[in-house]
Amino acid sequence: MNISDYKRVRSKYKVTPGSTVDLSALPTAETGEFKKKKQAVKALKKFRKELAELQSRFYAWDKKAMLIVLQGMDTAGKDGTIKHVMRGVNPQGVTVTSFKVPSAEELAHDFLWRIHKATPRRGMIGIFNRSHYEDVLVVRVHNLVPPDVWSRRYDQINAFEKHLTENGVIILKFFLHISKEEQARRLQARLDTPDKRWKFNKGDLKERALWDDYMAAYTDAVQKCSTEYAPWYIIPSDVKWYRNYVVGQIITETLHELNPQYPEPEEGLDDVVIV
Ligand code: ADP
Repeated sequence: MNISDYKRVRSKYKVTPGSTVDLSALPTAETGEFKKKKQAVKALKKFRKELAELQSRFYAWDKKAMLIVLQGMDTAGKDGTIKHVMRGVNPQGVTVTSFKVPSAEELAHDFLWRIHKATPRRGMIGIFNRSHYEDVLVVRVHNLVPPDVWSRRYDQINAFEKHLTENGVIILKFFLHISKEEQARRLQARLDTPDKRWKFNKGDLKERALWDDYMAAYTDAVQKCSTEYAPWYIIPSDVKWYRNYVVGQIITETLHELNPQYPEPEEGLDDVVIV
């Protein structure tokens, strides 16, 4: 594949700002140009090598930060994506923040307070495992705040993300799109596999029962908050290797376009003699 093929993959899954999204019509199980896992894993390996090199430059360049937002229903593969895509990248240049139920202190502040504090500094790639979008997802589905409060948050999120972008943060947002049937298979696998049982949470079944409400909330989130400066990508995620490949490709391609450079070395180094 050449660069233009990569771009096609990226634009295929990008939510065009202002467009209408029908999640039920978007694929969860497709595997693009790959028929076999082996081919996609090979392609991902290639990206990973490129990603490691680009991240090393990005860190040294120290001009921008990159924020990667991962959202999806339980079992969609937020953890797995991080593990597989970022493998091989220098851990010193990456932060991962998992957002849980807010603490009392966090709740005593505006909803973006804890988010802003966790945004990556220049040179770093910051990954959000869940994010400020929970404040228009779980919060909306469970009526944790009144509608007039959560409904104002889309504009607030857009303004916040614009502010970050204008201050040097590149934002990529991925919705890992799985089918309800695939979630059932993965939850069952957690129950059946001893090493995965610890991940099973009875509460996940309550959320699963609210699937349609979540899909409605996700639809609004990706529709209202996909912007040119901070686009949403909807990634078919029933097939894990394809999900990893697409996410890895989009991150690598975005970094590639930024073209980070190692800083110029000090002058006069040619004459330096180390004794
Ligand atoms: P995982 O992300 O692996 O599922 P947990 O099982 O600890 O981790 O789940 C974190 C929980 O925190 C999720 O149920 C999520 O909806 C919840 N959460 C995250 N952010 C918020 C928020 N702003 N308000 C309420 N609940 C939240």
